[in-house]
This record gives sequence, C-alpha cells and structure tokens, in this order.
Amino acid sequence: MAVTRDALWLAMIALAVLSTFGLRGLSRRRTQQRMVSERSLSALLDDVGAYVYIKDLDLRYRYVNRKVVEWFGRPVDSILGLRDQDFFDSATAEHLRSTDERVLQQGQRITVEEQNRQQAGQLPRTFLSVKQPLRDQQGRIHGLCGISTDITDLKLSEQKIRHLAVHDSLTGLPNRTLLLDRIHQAFQHFGRSRSDGALLFIDLDHFKLLNDTMGHAKGDLLLKQVAARLGRCLRQDDTLARLGGDEFVLLAENLGRDFADVTVGVKVLAERLRHELCAEPMELDGEQYFASASIGVALMSYVSGGTSASPADELLKRADMAMYEAKAAGRNQVKCFDPSMQRALHRRAELEFLIQEGLRLGQFQLAYQPVVDENGGVLGAEALARWPHPEKGAIAPGEFIAAAETSGQILALGAWILRAACAQLAAWGRSVDTRELTLSVNISARQVHQYDFVEQVAEVLRQSGADPRRLELELTESVFAHDFEIVSEKMRSLQRIGVRFSLDDFGTGYSSLTYLKRLPFHQIKIDQSFVRDLLHDENDAAIIRAVLILGESLGLEVVAEGVETAAHFQALRHLGGRRFQGYLFGRPGRAEEVRRTAVPVP
Ligand code: C2E
Ligand code: MG
Ligand code: MG
Repeated sequence: MAVTRDALWLAMIALAVLSTFGLRGLSRRRTQQRMVSERSLSALLDDVGAYVYIKDLDLRYRYVNRKVVEWFGRPVDSILGLRDQDFFDSATAEHLRSTDERVLQQGQRITVEEQNRQQAGQLPRTFLSVKQPLRDQQGRIHGLCGISTDITDLKLSEQKIRHLAVHDSLTGLPNRTLLLDRIHQAFQHFGRSRSDGALLFIDLDHFKLLNDTMGHAKGDLLLKQVAARLGRCLRQDDTLARLGGDEFVLLAENLGRDFADVTVGVKVLAERLRHELCAEPMELDGEQYFASASIGVALMSYVSGGTSASPADELLKRADMAMYEAKAAGRNQVKCFDPSMQRALHRRAELEFLIQEGLRLGQFQLAYQPVVDENGGVLGAEALARWPHPEKGAIAPGEFIAAAETSGQILALGAWILRAACAQLAAWGRSVDTRELTLSVNISARQVHQYDFVEQVAEVLRQSGADPRRLELELTESVFAHDFEIVSEKMRSLQRIGVRFSLDDFGTGYSSLTYLKRLPFHQIKIDQSFVRDLLHDENDAAIIRAVLILGESLGLEVVAEGVETAAHFQALRHLGGRRFQGYLFGRPGRAEEVRRTAVPVP
C-alpha cells in the first residue's frame, strides 16, 4: 500500500536524474556507464511501490513505471503519448489537468490528495500525489514528474477509526461524543430558528438483573433489539444514540415554536417509544423477554437562555433527572423535567454522599421492636435501621433506605445490618433470659438478587455464631417481580440451614397467593395501614380476618403490625390474631429493653 518516506525520496532523486540525463536525449548521449545507471534507475522506479510518471507540457505521458502500466492495464507503448482523458472518467481527468497545470504555471512542487476513477460509477481510489516541474539545463520547464501513493486503504481505516470513535460498536448508534456534538449543533439551530427540540433519556428497566441472570450475551441481544425498535420511531431530524449500558438518548429537533404543541408532541413521541419497547416481547435467542423502559424528557427551550456553561450537558442532565423520576414512580413511564426535580436530585445526591460517609464512620444503628403474643409475652423483635446523624439529626429510614436502594448502597448497608443483627442475636443466645428470642431483619430485593446472597447470609451466621433457626428474614413482594425460580431456590437453600422467612407489608402489593403457596414462608406481616383503620373501616377488618384465615389454612404465622392502642389489640385478638407488633408494646429501641417491654395485657 503506502511506500515509505525513504522510498519516495529515492524515487524523487531517481526521477530528477532521469529527467536531467535521460529519456528525451537518451539515444544521442548514450554511453555504457549511463546505460547502466538508467536501467538501474528505471528498475528502481518499477520496484518503488508508487505510481511514477513524467508528462510533457502537453500533459502527455512520457514515462510511466510498472505500477502505472499495471493500473491502466495496457502495454506501455499504448500509454506514452496519451493524456489523462484517455484513461480516466471526465471529472478525474479534469481535476488532474488543473493540478498539473498549476505545477507547470507556478513552477513549484505541490502535494495533493486525488480521488481517481478510471470509469464513471467505479469506486474512486485515493492517491497522495507529489508533483514537481521538470526543468532543462537552462531552467525552462519542459514537463512534470509525479509520484502517487495509493492511500485508499489507509483512508478507509482512517474513516473506520473515526466512525468507531463516535459510534457504539454494539448497536452502531452514535455514542456520547457524537451525541453531544449533535446537541450542540441543535442548540445553534434552535438559536436561529426558535423551533424547539427535546432530549429523551431512555433507560431500560431491570437491565442489570437481566444481564446478571440471563448472561451478557442475551443482554447484548436485547440492546440491539432495543436499538432497532427505537429506530423504527425516528423521523428524519432525529438522532438516536447509545450512551453506554442500557442508556439510550433520542434527540428530536424541529418540533415547532409553540410551547404547548411541542410539549404535547414530545409526550406523544415518548409514549410511542415506550410502547414500542414493551408492547411485544423481545426474542432473546429463543427466550421471550418483556422489556420496558423509563423515559425522561427535557426541552431545549428550558435550557437555552439559562446561565449554564454547557447547554448540551445541562439538557442531558435534566433529561436524566426526569428519567430518574420515571423510575422512582414505578418504571415503564414517561416523565418530563420540571425544576422541583432538580431540588429532589440535589437532596438525593447529598444523601448518597452522607450514606457513604455514614457507613465509613459507623453512624448507623439498629433499633429493636418487640413482637409479642396474645398475652403480651415477648417472642422476639424486628431490627430496624436508625441513623442519628451528628449534624442533620435523625434521618428517617423511609428516606435513607430508599436512597440506598436506588444508589445500590443498600448492598453495603444491608450487609452491615445483617452482621449487626446477627451479632445481637448471638448475644441474646448466650443469656438464659433471651435465648428463646427470634430476630427479624428486613432484606431489600437488591440484596436477595445478589448472586452470592445465600453464601453471605450463611457466612454472617457462621462468623457471629447466631442460631440460624432464630433468624427471620423479612422480604417484600418486590423481591419476586423477577426471577421467581432463582429467588425460590435461594430461599430453600437458606431454609435448609434453619433460616425462616416472613412476607412483610402483606396487603399492600399484589398479595399473590402464588407466593405464599410456592415459597417457603413461615410468616405473614399484615401491613400497619390495615390495622390503623381497623376500628373504623369494615373493609380493613374484613381483610385482616381473611388474612388470618389464610394464614391458618396455609400453616403460616400472622403478625399484625402497627398496634398502637389497647382497642386495636383487643379488636385484633377478637378477629383471631395471635402475634402483634406496635407502639403499644414498645417502640423500636435498645436491644436490652426488648425483654422488659411487654405490657400487661389490658
Ligand atoms: P417495616 O419493615 O414494615 O417496619 C415497620 C415500620 O413500622 C417501622 O418503621 C416501625 O418503626 C413502624 N412501626 C412499628 N410500630 C408502629 C406503630 O405502632 N405505629 C406506627 N405508625 N408505626 C409503627 P421504620 O423503622 O420507619 O421503617 C420503615 C420501613 O423502612 C420498614 O418498614 C422497612 O421497610 C424499612 N426498613 C427499616 N429498617 C430497615 C432495614 O434494616 N433494612 C431494610 N432493607 N429496610 C428497613
Ligand atoms: Mg419489616
Ligand atoms: Mg412491615
């Protein structure tokens, strides 16, 4: 392909020698010595790997080396004396003629890139050509010599590299770099036309879970199919990009000038994308998978005119925020950016930082709330995370657990909680007064879905010396949204070493009987919302009764949560309740208080 720089220089020198001594007056001044040097120079030029030629003032070929002969595919005799228009298509010939004339007129060497095509319709080949005027002994220009290197392959790989640098290799879509560039251009266009544009941030739901459980190959397949489906919804002015992972972004331009119209239009577009993904299952190598995505939308008109240094980054950030809102609202939804999201996001980011620090500095604690029988006798306790922050005061578990769940910090926090709880359980096991107590620990879905969840629990139990039969893990129904079989297998593994399971917040989710029948639960906890209104709401009373009967028939313990008053307690007992938890018997507090908190039964 390309010849080295040395070879080019050698050829240049050889050409200069040839043009000074040879070719034109070859026969007259021929000597033995010159014959040798001309032959070897000619041979040298044939081997040089570049296209070497000499043209006269008429731009007729006077010398061509072997490469040129091969490329033109004619014997050398039928090349010499002809011009470029005899070999190339008209556009190429015209271009060659004009550069050649420049060399002859200006009398200077030039370097040009040429796209040469022998026939119209052919793919052109790209050459890097050095052209130099030839002078006789009086210094008059009598022609030119050229050396052209075929750089077609080089150009192609350069193009490929450039393409790869701004495209995602899996889906072929533009990547973040190209997207940011397009957004930048879109803002410039918007500045002139005032026709609004929007950014749609599309994040697949539960993609990590799919990747972890079905493998990366299937994950890749899904991403490709998602790219294809989203691609179906594009208009001419739209750019679809993949930012990495399961994040796709659609830049839609030229949506119009009327704010209300644009807002409606972009929502319709976002809903169409959302629907396109979830309407039909994806086919992943023979397996069906129902995908969905959370979509956040931000309009360009919101960002421009602001003080942001980089409107492209700002727009992306806002669409991302809106996407997070869509996730938080339960996934598979579309949300549009509004300024309150920014405040919430700041708070979230701050909280994530504080959690990190809290874990490092050991700021988290566990509080223990007793669970009692129908006589108020303490059976055990539920461990509840507490965070008395030294500067911010107590931060509610509802807040920090949710933040830790979205950020993934729940894995570290949950591991700490489990260790602390098991240490307490082991301590109770060493005293006669407390060794019968059970301890319930809340476990988040993300913890259970870790591939080594079973080993982690077993290891904590082993290290702490706690009795597995006294440990209860409280799960909520969200755990079973995916990978039912895998979760079920994990539960059975832990059940075999004695650990028991409790279904928390029963009544607030799907409350599917399937879970209860097919999974090894030994306990249900009736959500406190039913207990709260038990005395006034007949429906709640009916539900509680039904759950108690259900528990009885399936052989499950039923705990009523949120028992605050003696009236609740009595009503629950009347309905058949036998296990209770609530402020009436004790607020979450220190472990030492657990066995002393039982209230006399009213
Ligand atoms: P949960 O597991 O249903 O916990 C029961 C919640 O009810 C606790 O709130 C408890 O303090 C509260 N409670 C107990 N008795 C009464 C009562 O008589 N009246 C009223 N109104 N409330 C009562 P808390 O501690 O704020 O926890 C809220 C939720 O946060 C928990 O609900 C649980 O889902 C989560 N959580 C708490 N600690 C942990 C933990 O260590 N790990 C995980 N993954 N989640 C936790
Ligand atoms: Mg609980
Ligand atoms: Mg609960």
